[in-house]
Amino acid sequence: MVIQDTVIPAVSWLRRAACRGEDPELFFPISAKGPGHAQHERAKTVCRRCPVRMPCLDYAVTTGQEHGIWGGADPDERRVSTLRQRDWHFSTG
Ligand code: SF4
Repeated sequence: MVIQDTVIPAVSWLRRAACRGEDPELFFPISAKGPGHAQHERAKTVCRRCPVRMPCLDYAVTTGQEHGIWGGADPDERRVSTLRQRDWHFSTG
């Protein structure tokens, strides 16, 4: 899929990714609603059965991936998750 060894050579978890062999375009729907909704949901379905979902999500958040579905989360979901973590760190500071 999107994240192939040639793109991220040092990430070993990619070898176990459920999206290997999938069309990379699937993970970059034009939107979560409207015409892109079905594609968005198909990509998330692949991620749900992926054994490396958490490292994938962590990679996307830590490297600031702004587009695409990573770890089963779309860009809006990743932003919300990041803000919640930031709030938690401030409140427990
Ligand atoms: S979580 Fe989704 S995008 Fe990430 S490696 Fe697995 S299938 Fe691919």
